[in-house]
Amino acid sequence: MENLRIASVHTKETLSHLQSLIHQQQQALRNGAAPQDVAAQLQAWEQIVQQLRAEMALEKSAQLSLLYEVSQTINASLDWKRTVQAVLNAVIRLTGAERGMLLVYDEQGQLNLELTSVASGMPFSEQDMQFSQSVVSQCLQQDRPVLTTNAALDPRFQNSDSVIAYGLRSILCVPLELQNGPLGVVYLDNRGRSGVFTQEDLALLATFAHQAATALDKARKHQKTNRTLSEKIRELTILQEMARDLNVGLNFDRVMERSIAWAIAASGAERGVIGLLGDDGIRWAAKVGDVQPVDVVAMRSIYTRKPFREEKRIILPLLREGRPVGVLYLETETRIFNPDKFEFVQRASDNIAIAVENARLYEALRKANMAKSEFISLVSHELRTPMTSIQGYAEMLSKGMVGQLAPKQQEFVEAIERNINRMRVLVNDLMDISRIETGQLSLNVQPTDFAAAVEEALGTIEEMIRERLQVLTVDIWPGLPKAMADPERLTQILINLLSNAAKYTPYQGLIAVRAWLSPDEPEFIRCAITDTGIGIAPEDQVRLFTKFFRADDPRVREQSGTGLGLAITKSLVEMQGGRIWVESEPGQGSTFYFTVPIALPDTSR
Ligand code: ADP
Repeated sequence: MENLRIASVHTKETLSHLQSLIHQQQQALRNGAAPQDVAAQLQAWEQIVQQLRAEMALEKSAQLSLLYEVSQTINASLDWKRTVQAVLNAVIRLTGAERGMLLVYDEQGQLNLELTSVASGMPFSEQDMQFSQSVVSQCLQQDRPVLTTNAALDPRFQNSDSVIAYGLRSILCVPLELQNGPLGVVYLDNRGRSGVFTQEDLALLATFAHQAATALDKARKHQKTNRTLSEKIRELTILQEMARDLNVGLNFDRVMERSIAWAIAASGAERGVIGLLGDDGIRWAAKVGDVQPVDVVAMRSIYTRKPFREEKRIILPLLREGRPVGVLYLETETRIFNPDKFEFVQRASDNIAIAVENARLYEALRKANMAKSEFISLVSHELRTPMTSIQGYAEMLSKGMVGQLAPKQQEFVEAIERNINRMRVLVNDLMDISRIETGQLSLNVQPTDFAAAVEEALGTIEEMIRERLQVLTVDIWPGLPKAMADPERLTQILINLLSNAAKYTPYQGLIAVRAWLSPDEPEFIRCAITDTGIGIAPEDQVRLFTKFFRADDPRVREQSGTGLGLAITKSLVEMQGGRIWVESEPGQGSTFYFTVPIALPDTSR
């Protein structure tokens, strides 16, 4: 390439030098010089000129094929800018231009300077960026090449400021042609010399322009694909993020609020509202901005299960497995919805439909559960009164307060008492669990003596332990600080755990109560209730603290129980700020641990 450039410039310059020498000699002849003196010289020069012309023609075709090769690489390369730049540099050298520029339309239809090249060794100034606007616009308007050998004298550009201002002589400008109009132009000029560009240069540049246009088009398509791809990835990320956010919890109000926020963000809307489909039509909720939804349009969208899209309004049915559950109503004021984003908004609405429906079902479930808890609470309450009176009369009978009972009568009355006791436990448990679930259980937390609570609990179940011939050991650290707990509830926790230990441990088994301060959690009293009973299978250990759970073991089923004790115990422990866990091995026994915060000295005074 370098050699060609030297040859080219050398040939061109020699040629014009020779031509001017010939011209001088012709002038000399006209001025009376002896023809024989110059004839031989002239002939020799003519021969050189012929030779040079032949050389140039050869050179040009060599250049053209070289350029063709380079252009092929443009086509193959996606790094179009670098390759096009290299070819533009070569074109400058081949044509003898001083400067070359590639101007390309951007997406907004603005013509921008994309690449420049100056002949090597030439100083480069800001002004070198300037080009003949009128030549370029003529080239683009007429969509064909413009070649001027002396722009200053060219009648086409006589009034062109840019030609005059930059003192342009030779200009060559070719559109970057593609089927649907030019993408830009390639522009070459030479300010110093006229007649630099030839028709061959034009052909050369046209080849280059065509290749550059194809390469640019390809690169742009590639860029667009890349953009579409990264846009898709972005959308997927948003959808994922959105699904995660909407599934954080099932709180109905939060889900609604987050859903509309996501819908607005995804669609670019400025305001919106979610409509929930109920038996009596649409109930609008989670409104953002001043939006006045039109029920008829929303209903149409719901019943046709089709989205409704206008420039400033989108209505999307919220479908769950094809069944409408609501509608998303979005509006803009200042801009219009981007139709390209519609598919994305629709996918976002699928996420919203799932979240809204789940939250709604959960809400319904929560309400039903609440109603059930309230009902249980009411029934247990109603049961307590007659039970108290049955218990009272049975007690009077068994204590002989209304006369001595025959042994059989005594036995029956004691059976009544035992069963009333069981019922009382059940009713109390039911009342507790429903209070916990409806948030109505309040604690009377105060500094509480832990050992006293253990004592109290043992008082209740000692008889049971004695009846079973079990051995009880109690090991409470002396000087244990007071617990911050509700004394009655703390006793209840201990009773539940101790009675389970007794119930699920065979006769003569061991039961131990320990309470101490563990260095792991020095702010808590830790209590362990250990037995040498039937133990708990690992798979049961995880379900132990759920309502109504009872192990599927005949040794469990033969004991009376509701499966509510541990669920209540866990809630009570946690409500006081502690935690509960179990360690157990089937056949070996179990240890239930729980913690309760210690009462810190009051620093407020
Ligand atoms: P209940 O004792 O009325 O059945 P709980 O909620 O107190 O209900 O206990 C749930 C289940 O946990 C019991 O049915 C039993 O299967 C198991 N369980 C509780 N404590 C023990 C224990 N100390 N040893 C073995 N199993 C136990």
